[in-house]
Amino acid sequence: MESEVRGRDQGGVAVDEPKAGEPSDLKNLGCSGLADMVARFALQPFRAAQIGRWVYREDASTVAEMSNLPASLRSRIAASWFIGRGTIAAATSSADGSCKLLIRFASGAAVEAVHLPAAGRTTVCLSSQTGCPMACAFCATGRLGPGRTLTIGELIEQFMAVVRPAPAGAGRTRPTHIVFMGMGEPLLEPRPVIETIRVLTWEHGFGYAARRITVSTCGIPAGIRALAEAGLRVRLAFSLNAPWEGLRTSLMPNAPPLADVIPALRHYAEATRTIVTLEYVLLGGVNDTAACARALSALASRLPSKINLIVYNETEGTMFRAPSGDRIRTFLSILLPASPTVTMRQSLGGDIAAACGQLAGGPEARVVAGP
Ligand code: SF4
Repeated sequence: MESEVRGRDQGGVAVDEPKAGEPSDLKNLGCSGLADMVARFALQPFRAAQIGRWVYREDASTVAEMSNLPASLRSRIAASWFIGRGTIAAATSSADGSCKLLIRFASGAAVEAVHLPAAGRTTVCLSSQTGCPMACAFCATGRLGPGRTLTIGELIEQFMAVVRPAPAGAGRTRPTHIVFMGMGEPLLEPRPVIETIRVLTWEHGFGYAARRITVSTCGIPAGIRALAEAGLRVRLAFSLNAPWEGLRTSLMPNAPPLADVIPALRHYAEATRTIVTLEYVLLGGVNDTAACARALSALASRLPSKINLIVYNETEGTMFRAPSGDRIRTFLSILLPASPTVTMRQSLGGDIAAACGQLAGGPEARVVAGP
């Protein structure tokens, strides 16, 4: 696709075109791809910002809508690129105001995203894969088996589909926070997630501050290091769930060993000057013991970190149960005095299977999940 650059920004007469082939989704280009395209067309660099604003800010559905671009340039872009759109195949609203959306892309793949409004903060939870190979025992996505990683265009369109005003004008409030905590492991193939974050934080894209974006991982050392090297300084959440290896392996059989993950987390915290969140789903009778609380606080004390406890959302088809109130109180009484910051996440969307660990795409998505 690369070709020599010649000519100037003339709306495009004397520059080499990309090689003929199937038209591609402009959303797949991301920031650096747009800059490359503009360079290849020998256009002024500001054209990348103009095109980006049409695609992301204005939500243009065709290149023809880019009215501040010369007509000849629009024709050249449209010859090689289109603007991909997904459709909302299903939407389920919770009594607590959250909404789970099944979003289907042009490829046929579908994932679930969740819009979670709360007082002073609205979060959108995005999926990164159509299934997940990590097979965590408490997770509905893990039971789907491996899927494929979404493209940059699909990740961005997933976000846009959630915030796009509904035809009836209802619309959903613009999120203040974005979390990659839905279906899939975002750092198994980190590049699409990293490039999507660049668009989310780009001033001509969605303009989010990095600190409002969180990537949650079960601990993929190479992916954590790639995210650190990307220089984005987003929040990193590590799905820990068990403070020692044997218990963790029984819950998360395909997750990398803690001995490999902890150094990568430390590197991330040091490289980005952030603290890592240790996510800990409390499973009744499994990881809510006094020994677990002591080991968790010891582990947290060795890292620049805070602990986020999540009471298990009971999901069909698993043997796990939420711990009782008494067990939670006992766990906290041991954890709190010896730990850095501890928070307890209030899960929304439990009644529509949209809470943590419950996303599985629904019967419709199961059919289409896969490469
Ligand atoms: S918890 Fe995360 S890493 Fe584990 S199976 Fe579910 S989606 Fe995959």
